[in-house]
Amino acid sequence: MQPVRGTRDLIGADARRHHHVAETARHTAGLYGFEEWFTPIFEDTGVFARGLGDTSDVVSKEMYSFEDRGGDSITLRPEGTAGVCRALVSNGLTQTLPQKVFYAGPMFRYERPQKGRYRQFHQIGIEVLGAAEPLADAEVIACGWQILNRLGVADGVVLEINTLGDDASRDAYRAALVEHFSAQADKLSHDSKLRLEKNPQRILDSKDEGDRAIVATAPTIDAYLTPEAAAFFEAVQKYLTQFGVPFRRNPRIVRGLDYYSHTAFEFVTDRLGAQGTVMGGGRYNGLVEEMGGPATPSVGWAAGMERLSLLMEVVGNNPQPPRPVAVIPQGDAAETPALALIQKLRQAGITAEIGYRGNLKRRMERANRQNARAALFVDEAGAIQLKDLDSGEQRAVSEDAAVAALGG
Ligand code: ATP
Ligand code: MG
Repeated sequence: MQPVRGTRDLIGADARRHHHVAETARHTAGLYGFEEWFTPIFEDTGVFARGLGDTSDVVSKEMYSFEDRGGDSITLRPEGTAGVCRALVSNGLTQTLPQKVFYAGPMFRYERPQKGRYRQFHQIGIEVLGAAEPLADAEVIACGWQILNRLGVADGVVLEINTLGDDASRDAYRAALVEHFSAQADKLSHDSKLRLEKNPQRILDSKDEGDRAIVATAPTIDAYLTPEAAAFFEAVQKYLTQFGVPFRRNPRIVRGLDYYSHTAFEFVTDRLGAQGTVMGGGRYNGLVEEMGGPATPSVGWAAGMERLSLLMEVVGNNPQPPRPVAVIPQGDAAETPALALIQKLRQAGITAEIGYRGNLKRRMERANRQNARAALFVDEAGAIQLKDLDSGEQRAVSEDAAVAALGG
């Protein structure tokens, strides 16, 4: 039996890195005032179809949708933001804003599997729901940057930011893009011809080689920004500088989903080959309304845990499991005092292992395989010898002294 194409098991070092990514992100987001939400892994298909826009790759090609036994159309979540916005509305929280949300968990997209790209993958993400201020954009980005730093992977990663403007800027820019791309429509890829009709800005994001040449000469949004949109973007950049977050402008960033306005950003790296975006996000002002709520200006990002984990591996940041203490009963009659001792150790927060069986030699071999830091030999009278397995030093100790010496 093999796992389904595009899915994988996380075991050992992979699992430890994955866990470390989640814990680091959860903790860091907490420092910024984000609280974790747990939303369902599947939703009504409409949550994503309406929320993400039907010209997005995710909705048009990548969703895992099925009819359940009751005849409802269900989709395994391809991303986290739509579900969080749906939850804001479902739980009547649109009057208590802002809400600062952290989430982590599996996402599902039907894509061609390759390094850093899976069909079941995992994201961490944060959202500030209900804040129109540019300070929120900067805080969200600063939190992401701190997570990358804490994971030890910030060195090879660059923050690229852009603005998509407000509605008026977008309309003006859209007209300019239509003019530019229409003139060369015959050279565009099939997908981009469709985008030209529905959402021409998405052509800027095309991965097609032929499209890229045409994109290279396309106008940027700068000349079309309203004074308000330009001022908003200026403010975001000012705050980023105040938070000490380095960035560079990339006018080609439009993000894959349809719901963004104003700020769009990506943290990119050249250390992961073609899958270079580790974290991406921006401001979205219409999504909560799509879910039936009031207008709720929001900003957030999502990061691929597998890509963060790969980056940790590249820089050699591989969390080790805690080194256990091996409790070794000397003879069957020593099992009772040995079990009493091991429970004391664990209750004091010390990782401890007892081999289930075997003579002294077998138990020591196992302790070495587990990279145990110390062995505690217990005899049938409950007398304890503590051996430091790094230095080889050994001495008699009481139960309390053993716990204290081992850091309890
Ligand atoms: P890409 O351009 O790589 O397809 P995307 O624009 O589809 O990315 P988002 O929807 O913004 O990605 O998701 C945010 C992050 O989630 C990405 O930057 C990436 O790190 C991660 N991610 C997206 N799709 C996958 C996948 N299939 N496998 C692993 N990670 C993924
Ligand atoms: Mg994608």
